[in-house]
Amino acid sequence: MDTLVLKKGKERSLLRRHPWIYDTAMAGVQGSPRAGDTVRVVDAAGRFLALAAYAPESGIRARCWTFEEATVVDEAFVAERLRRALAARRRLAARTNAVREVFGEADGLPGLIVDRYAAFYVTQFLSCGAERFRQTILRTLAEQEGIEGVYDRSDAATRAREGLAPASGTAFGKEPPERIDVVENGVRYAVDVRNGHKTGFYIDQRENRLLAAGLARRFLEENGRGMRVLNCFCYTGGFSLALAAGGAAEVIGIDSSAEAIALARHNAQLNAAESVARFVEDDVFAYLKRARDEGQSFDLVILDPPKFASSHRQVERAARAYKDINLRALRIIAPGGQLLSFSCSGAIDGDLFQKIVASAVIDSGRDAWMVSRLGAGEDHPLMMTCPEGEYLKGVLLKVL
Ligand code: SAH
Repeated sequence: MDTLVLKKGKERSLLRRHPWIYDTAMAGVQGSPRAGDTVRVVDAAGRFLALAAYAPESGIRARCWTFEEATVVDEAFVAERLRRALAARRRLAARTNAVREVFGEADGLPGLIVDRYAAFYVTQFLSCGAERFRQTILRTLAEQEGIEGVYDRSDAATRAREGLAPASGTAFGKEPPERIDVVENGVRYAVDVRNGHKTGFYIDQRENRLLAAGLARRFLEENGRGMRVLNCFCYTGGFSLALAAGGAAEVIGIDSSAEAIALARHNAQLNAAESVARFVEDDVFAYLKRARDEGQSFDLVILDPPKFASSHRQVERAARAYKDINLRALRIIAPGGQLLSFSCSGAIDGDLFQKIVASAVIDSGRDAWMVSRLGAGEDHPLMMTCPEGEYLKGVLLKVL
C-alpha cells in the first residue's frame, strides 16, 4: 500500500481523529497512488496514523476511512458503513420520507451524500474516495427495500475541487419523476431532484419547520387569530407550508428564483394552502426595505439566506450581510413578535452568529429574548471529531 508521510507536528489533528489531511501537512508520498486509492498515513517518524482515500488534486489531499491499522478498507467495509448510516435513520420514517441517509464525514463516509425522497435515493459523490466505491455504494442502495431508483447529483462545486468531473443522471433503476412528492410531518412537498438546490430540498430544516408550525399553533391559541409571517429566502416554500399547516393566517414567501417560486406555488396547491401561503419573486433586501417604508408588520419573520460566507476569507463581508438582513427584519416585527434567523455558512460558528444577530438587535433599538438556538436535524449529525460538519445554525428571538 502506498504511504503518505506527514510533516513533523502535522499528526496532531489525526491523533484526535480529525479525518482530513491537507496538502500543506504532507512531507511526501511513497509509491504512486492514484485518485481514490487507499493509502497508509504515517507521521514523520513513520508511525501509523490512518488509512485514507487519496485525492491528488485536492487541497484536502486525503480523507481518512479509519484510524485502526487492522481494518481492511474494501467493498465490504464501505457497504457496512453505508448500512450503519441507513439503520441510524430508520426511525425517522414514521415522520417523513425525505431523509438525509448519509452525511459524509459524520457517517464515516467522507464526501458521500445520500438523500432519500420517497422511493428514490439521490447521491452526491464529492470525494475521490466516495467515487472509488461508487458501484459498491449504488449496489448497496439498490438492495434497500422500497427503492425504485437512484439519481446521481454529483454536480456540486466541491467535486471539482477533488479533480472530479461533474456527473448527474439516473444511476440505478427507474428515472425519478419530474417532481417527487414527499410528506414531512403531514405536509406535502414536491421535490425536483434534477434541478433543485442541493439534492432538491432543504432536508436539514425539518425540525425547524416543525418548530415554526408549533409557533403558528401556539399563536393562534393565544391570540385567537392566525399569525402573519414573512418567510424570506423561501425557496420552494418549506417553512411557508409548515406554518400554514400550523394555522398561520398569512405567510408571504420571498425568493429571487422564479423556479423556486413556481414550485413553492405548486406546493401550496398540494396542501390546499394557496389562500394562506403567497409567494413573491423578489430580492429580499429590497423587499424588507419596502416593507418597512410601507409600515408593514409581521408576527414572525424567517430569514434563511444562502451561504453568505463560503470560506473564512469572506466572514467579515458575510457578517455585515447577516447583520443587515437581521436589522431590516427586526424593523418590521410587531411588538411581541418573533424572529427565526439562520446561517448555513460553515465559516461562521454559532457563537459568532449569535453575536451578529445581537448587534442587529442593538442597532434596531429594540429588546429581544433568545428563545432557543437551533441547528440541523438528527439526520445531519455532528461528528465530534470533525467540527467542520456543523454548518446550519439558527436563533429564535422574541422581540419585545
Ligand atoms: N428556507 C428554504 C431554503 C432557503 S435556500 C427551505 O427551508 O427550503 C436560500 C434561498 O435564497 C434560495 O432559494 C435562493 O434562490 C434564495 N436567494 C438567494 N439570494 C436571494 C436574494 N437576494 N433575495 C431573495 N432570495 C434569494
